[in-house]
Amino acid sequence: MEKVKNREQAVEVLQEIGRTLYQRGLVNGAEGNISLRAGDGTVYISARGSRLGALRPEDVAHITTDGQAAEPGPEPTSEYLLHTLVYESCPELGVVLHTHSPHATAVAVNRENVPPLIDEMTILLGGGIGVAPYAAPGTMELAQGAAQGLRERKGVLLANHGAVVGGTDPADALKLAGLVEQACRVFLLAKGGGTVHTIPPEAFERQREIYEKKRGR
Ligand SMILES: [Zn+2]
Repeated sequence: MEKVKNREQAVEVLQEIGRTLYQRGLVNGAEGNISLRAGDGTVYISARGSRLGALRPEDVAHITTDGQAAEPGPEPTSEYLLHTLVYESCPELGVVLHTHSPHATAVAVNRENVPPLIDEMTILLGGGIGVAPYAAPGTMELAQGAAQGLRERKGVLLANHGAVVGGTDPADALKLAGLVEQACRVFLLAKGGGTVHTIPPEAFERQREIYEKKRGR
């Protein structure tokens, strides 16, 4: 997808992402935050306290990657550092979504890495899903954990908090947010039922090659 060129386009794309996350049960109320990187390198991001399921144009803040306002408007989400640091660390990523989806959050509370369990995980996410160490919301430490995780995989869990995914475009990011939630759900169900078998190493290697190509590096 082409990068957005102006505020109007950015609002439209973020509204559609927010609505979809809400409809799929991945966000609720004022939980979660979302952003995209525009063609000029600035970031459009949901405002502090906004409801992603019903995002209004005035709920979209516009900032630079060093966190300054790019135009007058609302304050960005208190988690803006997490978004800007990911964009700085991963030039190929264009959309960052942070959710508290229930199964991902449950695994984040377990603080267990999810091994590659289903083929899509490696092809789309890059492999298993790691857990970044606990850090308080809104801190640089939390942002660093997320950015570090997303350099290696396109999804990461934040201990006792939730999930972050980084997509190349909106459709990719939405797919990833759903996949992280599904993988965590499968992991919890499989653990409850017996032995967890991971994808064989040869298959993992093949899928990892496809992932690297799709991610564009
Ligand atoms: Zn959060």
